[in-house]
Amino acid sequence: MTFADLGLSDELLRAVNDAGYNEPTPVQRAAIPPVLMMKDLIAIAQTGTGKTASFVLPMIDILAHGRSRARMPRSLILEPTRELAAQVAENFEKYGKYHKLSMALLIGGVQMGDQVKALEQGVDVLIATPGRLMDLFQRGKILLTGCSMLVIDEADRMLDMGFIPDIEEICTKLPATRQTLLFSATMPPPIKKLADRFLSNPRQIEVARPATANVNIEQMLVPTSTRTKRETLRRLLRAEDVRTAIIFSNRKTTVRDLAGSLLGHGFAAGQIHGDMEQPERLKELDRFKAGDINILVASDVAARGLDIKGVSHVFNFDVPWHPDDYIHRIGRTGRAGATGKAFTLVTPEDDEAVANIEKLTGQTIAREVQAAEPERAPEPSAPSPDRARDRRGGRSGRGRRDDQKRDDQRRDDSRRESRSETEINSGPVENERWNGPVPAFLGFGIAV
Ligand code: AMP
Repeated sequence: MTFADLGLSDELLRAVNDAGYNEPTPVQRAAIPPVLMMKDLIAIAQTGTGKTASFVLPMIDILAHGRSRARMPRSLILEPTRELAAQVAENFEKYGKYHKLSMALLIGGVQMGDQVKALEQGVDVLIATPGRLMDLFQRGKILLTGCSMLVIDEADRMLDMGFIPDIEEICTKLPATRQTLLFSATMPPPIKKLADRFLSNPRQIEVARPATANVNIEQMLVPTSTRTKRETLRRLLRAEDVRTAIIFSNRKTTVRDLAGSLLGHGFAAGQIHGDMEQPERLKELDRFKAGDINILVASDVAARGLDIKGVSHVFNFDVPWHPDDYIHRIGRTGRAGATGKAFTLVTPEDDEAVANIEKLTGQTIAREVQAAEPERAPEPSAPSPDRARDRRGGRSGRGRRDDQKRDDQRRDDSRRESRSETEINSGPVENERWNGPVPAFLGFGIAV
């Protein structure tokens, strides 16, 4: 099947061709025809499947006719994070280049003035995060009564982030006769309820989870302990042919600590997490995309859905609390036919979380066979010429591991933070802010 078979306009086909896509993905094949027929849609699909184009493409053709009016957007796309909203906007630019549609992006963390100006001129497509949209709505800057198309993207993530009440309220502000498309990687009961209430006679489609079916991603569990996690990570980073890597952690505080620690160990690492201001996040992403840094330490929320080409490795510094997040995380690599590797550091406390992931994916993940802990040679009083050379030359094997261990120990001791890693790793505190002293190595452009 080709894109031409889906009933898209010639202009769109040209834009798709320019983007280099020859064949629609399964979600595009299943979603585009009913959306063009103005049907409501529930799509169980996650990022990496091509789902964004599955709503952006038909929306462009539907909106090609008709005119926008001041403050009354003609369509609304709700995204859980600013990054995803920005990515959808990029998709509109890419596929809408032969159309004359106007678009506004309404996201927190950027100046509201320009966004309001764009709205006042009238827009065909409004892409927004729920918080900023509600804010502007309450200030009377926006009317949703002219919105005949609504897309709720990443609905399960919206649920995780507590956006469902906002979304319900937004839905009630839109005209009852509208077309609604809901995308979600999973369908937990609250999302089902939302769909029952706000969608009318929807077509339901489901595409295979790409990560579970994605044979391009080699997965591995790496046993470690809470105390030696950073060291294990550094070992992997050095041993692997890492071109670009995203390292996921469950908490913002760990993201900050780990990025600082990796920098201190000479890795070109950056970070992205929910406490950073938008311009700062985008700057880090740009550095990563441009190759100025090749390691990005990230929290789930900040990295959700990020589409960065050519990520060779994903490391889960922490096993995610939700098995779904595992699939989302590892899906950052092995994209668009490329191969990728996903390593997950596991401590004995993670057994249950790992079992849940394996249950969800239906796969047993291979476990790295641990080499026996090398016996430590007695410390020589002065380094032999060989040892000195080895230190400079960077060798592999036991000597290097020992050197690293000592090196790490020294660094970790000298940077003793106000909290131990064990404390950082206990309990869900995604929203917590660092309120302890800020060690010097954390002082590189971090908003604390
Ligand atoms: P998404 O699931 O929307 O995050 O898209 C995942 C990636 O697939 C993005 O890099 C898209 O540019 C890419 N993509 C979308 N549609 C196609 C297609 N038909 N063929 C190949 N790649 C695609």
